[in-house]
Amino acid sequence: MDKYIESVYQSILDKDPLQKEFHQAALEVLETLEPVIEKYPVFKEHKILERIVEPERIIQFRVPWKDRNGEIQINRGYRVQYNSAIGPYKGGFRFHPTVYLGLLKFLGFEQTFKNSLTTLPMGGGKGGSDFDPKGKTDGEVENFCHSFMGEMYRHIGQFTDVPAGDIGVGGREIGYLYAAYRKITNLHGTGVLTGKGYGWGGSLVRPEATGYGNVYFAQEMLKTKGESFKGKKVLISGSGNVAQYAAEKAMQLGAKVASFSDSTGAVHAPDGITKEMWDYVMELKNVKRGRISEFAEKYNLEYVKGGRVWQFGGDIALPCATQNELDKKDAEKLISSGVIAVGEGANMPTTPEAVTLLIEKGVLFSPGKASNAGGVATSGLEMSQNSGRLFWSREEVDKQLHGIMVNIHQNAYETAKEFGAPGNYVLGANIAGFMKVAKAMVAMGHLA
Ligand code: NDP
Repeated sequence: MDKYIESVYQSILDKDPLQKEFHQAALEVLETLEPVIEKYPVFKEHKILERIVEPERIIQFRVPWKDRNGEIQINRGYRVQYNSAIGPYKGGFRFHPTVYLGLLKFLGFEQTFKNSLTTLPMGGGKGGSDFDPKGKTDGEVENFCHSFMGEMYRHIGQFTDVPAGDIGVGGREIGYLYAAYRKITNLHGTGVLTGKGYGWGGSLVRPEATGYGNVYFAQEMLKTKGESFKGKKVLISGSGNVAQYAAEKAMQLGAKVASFSDSTGAVHAPDGITKEMWDYVMELKNVKRGRISEFAEKYNLEYVKGGRVWQFGGDIALPCATQNELDKKDAEKLISSGVIAVGEGANMPTTPEAVTLLIEKGVLFSPGKASNAGGVATSGLEMSQNSGRLFWSREEVDKQLHGIMVNIHQNAYETAKEFGAPGNYVLGANIAGFMKVAKAMVAMGHLA
């Protein structure tokens, strides 16, 4: 690694030695920026790397709330406002027991480049809490959301910071959070949160956008090899928002969706799931909030407790659950089963060793910051609709989403070629996302 880049990375390790997910995300980006720093010395002069790895602001607070027994519970709330050079901070809230500052810094850092890639004017941010919605009643989730927003409201706004959902924060949670925001501020229709429901400020196709966008991106990658989804065996991990709609779109394109999973295990449907089975998963996960093992039981499918879906082998793999869920061993299994493409729906689901191996073996590989950008892009479209007091049709939003994904693919593809690494979407996406933010920071001087 270049000495200057290494020194920036070392300073991250020295300052925050325990933030391992952040180290991983930062290293993955910094490594690929070497040719850019060489070509544009102005970025080094302006200390863009040193500045871009440091969040502009971090907010941490306590979230006290009462559980069903009237007992007081305390969680931690966070917002990492990473970079606002090209627009207001934008990025989701994650509610999951593993949430801590290092995880949110990784996600906010990634978000900065992802949002830049969408071509929309959005900076990067991320937030959330170590609160676990699993096993809680609706009332407990509501109490928690109200308390969380009781502090968060003062840090966000349509021109400041526009949060959305992520793991553990879906339509239900956004509803409770938005209600609290409106109650406290008496401001309506400001587009302060995205992922709202249709009819109260939400955009059509926002729930579908990340999953659909991931499949649109994979479709573009496949086209470069004269391939398509038709007839392919597609492995999907997770069974939450991103997984559900990646599955729907892949099925619409004629693929056989052969798996789902959750944190307790993996289900194999070797002949592909039917529309009826997909409907069952939607109800199971979004309404009953049950376990994926119930899906296996209902349809008499193979269920591997504690297992990962990659062991089933397939043509296309779409990791849509969480970070570091596809490691080198999983990549080896996929390669031996003849996988041709891996499209990240989740954020950083593939470990660095697995990414290197997949790229080495010529597997088409898209990093999440490019291929899952459809969610935040459609959030950007939701913000546009809120500003204009408009609602666009499903066709209109889907057309724009598709156009944005084609554009991101083209941008990453061309940039990789320009910097001497054709077909390397990791390098292409990192450099393309970085350039826009870095140029804006140079133009605005050292305060940016
Ligand atoms: P959901 O909460 O809707 O679903 C998450 C899924 O991942 C669930 O099936 C969950 O299982 C599984 N999961 C979570 N943690 C683990 C774990 N440690 N091991 C195995 N499985 C796990 O979240 P989303 O679908 O919204 O998000 C999924 C990924 O996509 C995340 O990385 C997120 O950051 C990313 N993303 C999401 C966007 C969006 O618009 N929603 C936008 C861009 C990226 P269980 O129920 O058992 O926990």
